[in-house]
Amino acid sequence: MDSLKHTPFNGAIRRGVPAARLLLFAIALALLTAAGCAKKELPRQSAPVMAAGTADARPAAGTEPAPQNPPAPDLQPAFPLTEKTKAAPSGKKKAPARTTTERLLQSAGRDPGAVQPEAGFHLAVPDTLGDGEAFLVEFSAAGAEGLELGWRGKTLSVTEADKAGRFMALLPVPLDEKAKSLPLALTLVWSAGKKEAMKADVPVKKRSYAVQRLKVAPKHVSPPPDMLPKIERDRAEMRAAVGKVTPRRYWSLPLLRPVPGQVTSLYGLRRVFNNVPKSPHKGLDLDAAEGDPVASAEAGTVVLVSEHYYGGKTVVVDHGLGVLTAYLHLSGYNVSVGQTVRRGDIIGFIGSTGRVTGPHLHLSLYVMGVSVNAATCTAM
Ligand SMILES: [Zn+2]
Repeated sequence: MDSLKHTPFNGAIRRGVPAARLLLFAIALALLTAAGCAKKELPRQSAPVMAAGTADARPAAGTEPAPQNPPAPDLQPAFPLTEKTKAAPSGKKKAPARTTTERLLQSAGRDPGAVQPEAGFHLAVPDTLGDGEAFLVEFSAAGAEGLELGWRGKTLSVTEADKAGRFMALLPVPLDEKAKSLPLALTLVWSAGKKEAMKADVPVKKRSYAVQRLKVAPKHVSPPPDMLPKIERDRAEMRAAVGKVTPRRYWSLPLLRPVPGQVTSLYGLRRVFNNVPKSPHKGLDLDAAEGDPVASAEAGTVVLVSEHYYGGKTVVVDHGLGVLTAYLHLSGYNVSVGQTVRRGDIIGFIGSTGRVTGPHLHLSLYVMGVSVNAATCTAM
């Protein structure tokens, strides 16, 4: 987070189109940081952590599994991020590098140097995104009808503003994204169908996610061969559910924390079982007791209720505009497919179904089909 620089701009915009109307508009793109939302979080994963010994380490109860020695808590503000600008280094004067915001503005022929705060023009883009993180795009303007975002080969259209007149979207950077930067194409849609395009490359900063080495019974590492078709069906079912992009936004940030318990295993954790690297942990494990109610992180529509080999009893809720949450290892369901839920409605109950060592909630956040760190978008 501290490496991010947000540069606000304020300026009047005179439209060159009919009657040279003066339109006031505000755009804000803000990065949700990797800062955790939980009371107890691993440190900021700046260096690999060997969390457990290899000799006789056993998974702690209530995770799949958790580090033996949970690192010290690291409290970070989760949301919203305030914009901040790095203080200029003392001594030598150095011309600042152009920010992503400036590149976006200049690509649209705007003057990023024009600053007239009273005009309500505001644009801010994070200079760097981390892999495994989502970032927020927010836009509002008099005369605006929508926002189109081109990101990672997909286009997301935001055509509905909220009561405050804001068009909002979340965009994902996948865990282990290899690209050093990703192109963002942002199109403002004005009334009468006029469009204004902006483009910039957004640098991606590789996060260092912790490594956890565990020695477990071999059956926990390799599933029985006769279960492989079921596991493949589960994956296909999950992919189809979390890849949905529906046009109406039901979410606002931060998302609600579904259970109050502390985080026992972080998103992105590299797990090595018996020296065999397994896929990274694509969720957040929250401590909870068997039978505890699980609240929906936001309003939406239930799109999956199914029992999977690894995930156990699973519920997926679609919150719109490509944002979905998944709740794994439940003992029972309180919803059915197609049902609409409000923020905080009980969707099921804590359990230990699937591949787990004890009751807990595995919470996953998906944005446009991509798993991202739920801790970056969820409230305490
Ligand atoms: Zn988990």
